[in-house]
Amino acid sequence: MTEKLSTELTEKLEAVKFNYYDITEKIAKAAEISGRTADDITFLAATKTVEPVVINYAISLGLKHIGENKVQELLSKYDEYNLSDCDLQLIGHLQTNKVRQIVGKVSMIQSVDSIKLANEIDKQSKKINIITDILLEVNIGREENKSGVLTENLDELIENVSKLDNVQIRGLMAIPPICDKKSDVCKFFDKMYKLFIDISGKTLDNVCMDYLSMGMSDDYQEAIISGANMIRVGSSLFGARIYR
Ligand SMILES: *Cc1c(COP(=O)(O)O)cnc(C)c1O
Repeated sequence: MTEKLSTELTEKLEAVKFNYYDITEKIAKAAEISGRTADDITFLAATKTVEPVVINYAISLGLKHIGENKVQELLSKYDEYNLSDCDLQLIGHLQTNKVRQIVGKVSMIQSVDSIKLANEIDKQSKKINIITDILLEVNIGREENKSGVLTENLDELIENVSKLDNVQIRGLMAIPPICDKKSDVCKFFDKMYKLFIDISGKTLDNVCMDYLSMGMSDDYQEAIISGANMIRVGSSLFGARIYR
């Protein structure tokens, strides 16, 4: 490694360290406002475009959960993650024909929005004798061309998925529309929290409403205050993404 590169990396890692503690503090504050503690909130780092050396540094600081968006990128980095003390999840849209490649490699798939996809995860999990945890992704902003199930179809999806032996529903995930005002995004967070509580109250077989995954770099504190117990933070931790 040239000297310039190594200085760049050192500076990057310093920034990640600063950001990590800053986010941890903000999580604790938001948790407190909502009558909880930092331990009640799962901090997952969204690691798309981030090099494994940087991801592993964040893990060394205490990060326990990472999430990738794309199957291809996850597989290309897979051997380099230090997963002895951290779990790996899939948070981005998943195509049915790629399920086989990641089942067994990820602890949870956060982006299940159809029975077709759930069936395939069940089938591939059965083959290797595991149960795969999933979240159901809700298209809470009813945006066209966005993944996620619409709220009126959620009950039916839960009912069908809960019949599968090798898939376990662990909660809900959402990516609300981009809003100019924080108060607007909070309306979507509040809707998600209400759904989450409604479903939690139903005691359905094979359904555990453990996680409400919502909130990203710009709004994770608001999400926590609205009731999220899992946040997915990328750029606030690792810096702005540069796509090549
Ligand atoms: C990239 C991404 C995030 C994190 O986004 P930031 O704004 O960088 O924090 C969270 N969830 C999903 C599904 C993502 O793709």
